[in-house]
Amino acid sequence: FLRPSKPTVTSPASALARLLSTLALLEQREGKLNPSSLSAVTAAQKLGGSITGFVAGSGVKAVAEQAAKVEGLEKVIVVENGAYDKGLPENYAPLLVENIKKGGFTHVIAGHSAFGKNLLPRVAALLDVQQISDITSIESEDTFIRPIYAGNAVLTVQSTDPIKLITARGTAFPAAPVSEGKTAEITEGTDPNAPSPTEWVSEDLVQSARPDLSTASRVVSGGRGLKSKEEFDRIITPLADALGAAIGASRAAIDSGFADNSLQVGQTGKNVAPELYLCAGISGAIQHLAGMKDSKVIAAINKDPDAPIFQVADVGLVGDLFEKVPELTEKLKQG
Ligand code: FAD
Repeated sequence: FLRPSKPTVTSPASALARLLSTLALLEQREGKLNPSSLSAVTAAQKLGGSITGFVAGSGVKAVAEQAAKVEGLEKVIVVENGAYDKGLPENYAPLLVENIKKGGFTHVIAGHSAFGKNLLPRVAALLDVQQISDITSIESEDTFIRPIYAGNAVLTVQSTDPIKLITARGTAFPAAPVSEGKTAEITEGTDPNAPSPTEWVSEDLVQSARPDLSTASRVVSGGRGLKSKEEFDRIITPLADALGAAIGASRAAIDSGFADNSLQVGQTGKNVAPELYLCAGISGAIQHLAGMKDSKVIAAINKDPDAPIFQVADVGLVGDLFEKVPELTEKLKQG
């Protein structure tokens, strides 16, 4: 005979807040925290409950000390092992699963970066739960909003899984602030040392002194209207220099060889939301808009007054970019 248990007098909200505990994945490269991880911490704060950071690699104690100052993190778990330096999902996924189980976390959040996108689906498969990608808003502890069809529709996802694995879009959540006066507890995590079939061989990185495209406060982008790589460099680079901006490009410009692949903005490129997005010779296809329409101010130069980019632009200039962009660059240089 089962007797119903006596109701307790705690409010549902406070009971929930006590049960929720989120593991925020901290991505690092050469001892520096990736800004998308700080956005993931902000997203975790919106869930409520306690937040623990997680970082693994060689020499990551220094990263953990940086993370301990991030507002919202109560604890940082650190696993010191060079095998996790490059974030290879084949060995990182079992490491994460082990630590999620040990900590009894209800939510795991990572930035929607190549690292988060590569890793969390594997972790989800190992835990036999659904992964929820690229969220832009949190409605409650089990309900999330994410854009679909290149941002043309918005999906509300409710999950009944016991552990929610989420990647958060960096441009939708501001970076959690760092406070010098604060320190979170740093503890050692469990290291399963899982064998990996994959080995890190090498990487070819495009080195640039410019601000990082994903996080820059100003972006200057060029499209197919630039006509060639030489013209792209001659017209776009000086304008970006004058504004201290990162350079972006449309897919048509990338496919035509005007700029490096890493500079593509859009559905299949990077998502950016700078203070200023200034573009020239870009028509404004929906796949391009998907990656930049959340920019605070959008300025566009195009010779076609009916170009769709003008529908989202705050400031538009109809004219020949080969004339207008150098004119603008010159004015900016003169201050
Ligand atoms: P165009 O559409 O050819 O526009 C060139 C513009 O330059 C025109 O508006 C023209 O009026 C203007 N122009 C020409 N000469 C001048 C001049 N002298 N002065 C001023 N203006 C001039 N695209 C992306 O950008 N990012 C993505 O991530 C992306 N992902 C995609 C994913 C899928 C699945 C698909 C199907 C497509 C994707 N695309 C993406 C491609 C997208 O549909 C467009 O083809 C692309 O964005 C067009 O690039 P564009 O605006 O540079 O070129």
